Amino acid sequence: MFRRKRAPNKPFMHADDCKIYAADPTVSIPWNEVEARHWQAACQCGVLDVYEPVGDRVRLDPLDAKTSRHMPQCEFANETDPAMLRVLLKVQDGRGGDYYWVSCGACDTAWQVPFYAEASVG
Ligand SMILES: [Zn+2]
Ligand SMILES: [Zn+2]
Repeated sequence: MFRRKRAPNKPFMHADDCKIYAADPTVSIPWNEVEARHWQAACQCGVLDVYEPVGDRVRLDPLDAKTSRHMPQCEFANETDPAMLRVLLKVQDGRGGDYYWVSCGACDTAWQVPFYAEASVG
């Protein structure tokens, strides 16, 4: 399957105290495709990750209230305020599967959120 590799068209934002940037403000940080559709630019001051969208698959937001699986008695079970959810929920990925691992700080429950919504077929 042929796929054109195209580095993200996204400027690298250096940290304020980055020595590389201080030495040369025009420096351009090269992008590396560390795995399929996952681009990474690494500078001395930090690393930037960019994930390419995959066809018509939509990257899911692990904080989306629609994907949450709180305990029924959780006082935040119906919470939809993104700002609240960002504080309440802890998101991890890289557990080996194609999903986030989201845990709720209030009801102590965790659930999986796939990286991508199911592709709509037809
Ligand atoms: Zn830098
Ligand atoms: Zn909860």
